Amino acid sequence: MPDLLLLALLLAAVAIGWWLGRRDRKQRSPARQQPALSRDYFVGLNYLLNEQTDQAIETFVAALEVNSDTIETHVALGNLFRSRGEADRAVKVHQNLLARPTLSVTQSHTVQLELSRDFLHLGLLDRAERLLQTLIREASSDSTRHSAKKLLVDLYERERDWQSALDVAQPTLIRQHDDIRRAAAHWLCELAQQNMQSASPSLARKRLRQALSIDDRCVRANWLLAKLEHDTGQYKAEIRYLKRIPEQDNDFTPIILEPLRDAYHLLEDISGLELSLRQVIERGAFTTAIILLAETLQRREGNKAAEDFIRDQLSRTPSLRGIDYLLGLYRYDIDGLERERIELLKRHTRELIEATPRYRCSRCGFSGSHLHWQCPRCRSWGMTKPVTGIEGE
Ligand SMILES: [Zn+2]
Repeated sequence: MPDLLLLALLLAAVAIGWWLGRRDRKQRSPARQQPALSRDYFVGLNYLLNEQTDQAIETFVAALEVNSDTIETHVALGNLFRSRGEADRAVKVHQNLLARPTLSVTQSHTVQLELSRDFLHLGLLDRAERLLQTLIREASSDSTRHSAKKLLVDLYERERDWQSALDVAQPTLIRQHDDIRRAAAHWLCELAQQNMQSASPSLARKRLRQALSIDDRCVRANWLLAKLEHDTGQYKAEIRYLKRIPEQDNDFTPIILEPLRDAYHLLEDISGLELSLRQVIERGAFTTAIILLAETLQRREGNKAAEDFIRDQLSRTPSLRGIDYLLGLYRYDIDGLERERIELLKRHTRELIEATPRYRCSRCGFSGSHLHWQCPRCRSWGMTKPVTGIEGE
């Protein structure tokens, strides 16, 4: 039980700090009467030895004095409570510290920062926000201000207040932290989507260009710019934006393929589609691209051409969706019992495909059938990508 051990060590450190502080004062002023704290110390220790941690904590925190020797340990004790999921206790410890008039300004700011973390943990966002705003205004230490800004950005992100998150993060945090830079481009995409919903395409475009100027690898910005062009019938421009996505990150290629097919169809440019799909396949054997190309071959030259093409591709890159498509082609040529068997096999491949996640977060492994620009589990932006391999793309 490493937590319990750490807690015991911390409590022992608080106790030793208190004892040293008291001894020091006793030596300086021998006439002063000794306070009756030693009893509390032994009561607390007794609780701890009997593994009655809760009572031990209450006794130590209530009895032990806060002085320059013990303050860091008190802060660490509060943080330990928070990390154990007991943020309400952490609040008590940190508030108890803040009430001490002996605290220096710097120490007070350190404790306020921890207290705002406790509030965030408890979901008391208003209280955390007020505390963090005060720290950003008043803290003299750069590192405290920096940490307060990062927490406030996190808070605004949780509240989906994208503009406030941007205001706090710009320009320092965006320059210094890759994660925040990537997130900031997505906040602009979120704002652009709001503009698109309220029919303000020019404002949306401006924000998406700003997103790309902050993070030129922001796939989502080009994805939304393509959508804006699609909505106004500018299919050639849509295709240009879609084609930028594999250049930014080839792993995202599968998300452009269906819109690409639709845009070429609307332009009635099937040879353009075929050429683009061949270019995609050269850069990676994405199953969706292979199937879309087989479909164009099927329409132009018939089932046999599509079958030959898929068989050739499967021998190089096996994939469940490729097999499923091939089974679909086979059933055209047969009937009776043979057809029933193929239908049965195809039902199984469909079930397997439907049970396989299409997207996975490369940071925490969260997977699902929808593309989340922000991972629902680890909250990182742009890390959820199409799944590749035999069961995926
Ligand atoms: Zn994740």
